Amino acid sequence: MEVQFLGGADEIGRSAVLVSGGDRSSGSRAGSDDASLLLDYGMASESPPQYPIGDIDPGAVVVSHGHLDHAGAVPALMSSGDLPPVHWTPPTRELATTLAEDTLKLHGSTPRCPFTDTDVRRLTQASVTHGYEEPFEAAGYEVTFYNAGHIPGSAHVLIDDGETRLLYSGDFHTGDQRLVAPSTARPEADAVVCESTYSDVTHDARDSVEKRFVDSVKQTVWQGGTVVVPAFAIGRTQEIMLVCAAHDIDCYVDGMGQRVTDQLKRHPAFLRDADALAGATSSARFVDGRDGQRRRIADQNTVIITTSGMLSGGPAMTYVPAIRQHPTNKIAMTGYQVEGTPGRDLLETGSAELDGRVMPVSAQVEQHDFSAHADRNGLLSFLDSYRDTPVLVNHGDRCGGFAAELREDGFSASAPALGETVEL
Ligand SMILES: [Zn+2]
Repeated sequence: MEVQFLGGADEIGRSAVLVSGGDRSSGSRAGSDDASLLLDYGMASESPPQYPIGDIDPGAVVVSHGHLDHAGAVPALMSSGDLPPVHWTPPTRELATTLAEDTLKLHGSTPRCPFTDTDVRRLTQASVTHGYEEPFEAAGYEVTFYNAGHIPGSAHVLIDDGETRLLYSGDFHTGDQRLVAPSTARPEADAVVCESTYSDVTHDARDSVEKRFVDSVKQTVWQGGTVVVPAFAIGRTQEIMLVCAAHDIDCYVDGMGQRVTDQLKRHPAFLRDADALAGATSSARFVDGRDGQRRRIADQNTVIITTSGMLSGGPAMTYVPAIRQHPTNKIAMTGYQVEGTPGRDLLETGSAELDGRVMPVSAQVEQHDFSAHADRNGLLSFLDSYRDTPVLVNHGDRCGGFAAELREDGFSASAPALGETVEL
């Protein structure tokens, strides 16, 4: 088996790994390399957006989960006459379609969008969904999904060509979240491709992160302030809704997270507690933003969960300017803020460019670490099941460093470069 890294090698964003060279028996598609199976096809949403390298036409595609950096460019594979089947879990299919429509809305008909609305429609024809631990055939390989504990529908992917079993970790979390159960499956494998997003970070225990967030939010509300909680639409918005519901905090929910919440509720089997999400949804108030509704809400003594998670757009562009001048108010970030984003600038400098205007912010600004990724200890506990297995480290900004640390710890580990092919 050969594994080639077309993206996500020593970087986060545009994940893509091409598996080939196995013993195939499937039928052939004209013009494609039927022998190849593509794992993820993401985009990095920097400016301009970055896509995986190479011009490929795989026999089949398997998508680990519905985040932009793993699924964002999949529709671009739909432009040839003969569609490769795209295998994913039902939530991943819905999330990836939503992301594709969002990318079209933002960048459609420009060079910044590598696909058309026709490609997105064709994705529906190519889509094949599977549950966890239900083996299926793709491009002649046997493939099995296991819960990865990252977001609903996220999967570790096991690929078996009859001789070699490759485990592609995808993004995963071994720790507790309210929305999804943690990753526990450790299928036998002959090689592992492992993410390393937080290989040098230790997250605080989730219950203490949650307690600090809840205490802080309640205090601001009690003092008469408004709390804006910027949150990613996929996963984080729902996690914060669940936290608020569990602690009797009334909240509004705005932005793309509303639609994603409705989608995830349709897949209760992929949620840790579907009743809890249904309860959190019925107690939260969804905002449609008509007739100045957002401005009125921003004047209230309340909590507003809204996109975008890094203050780079979305309804947060109305809420943050509206509450920024009063020190009683609060902006409670709930995720990592990438360098160069308004969210990061706000944390570091107390001001940020919002909707084209640099604005100083007198409201309190906080950061709460609700990560959906394994930290260093989580990665090591996962890899402990693969001590005698070659480990290929990807999806991080210090893949080489982490691979070296694993080697010191007795692993056979390496960090393949972009474009590199590894023979297993
Ligand atoms: Zn992810």
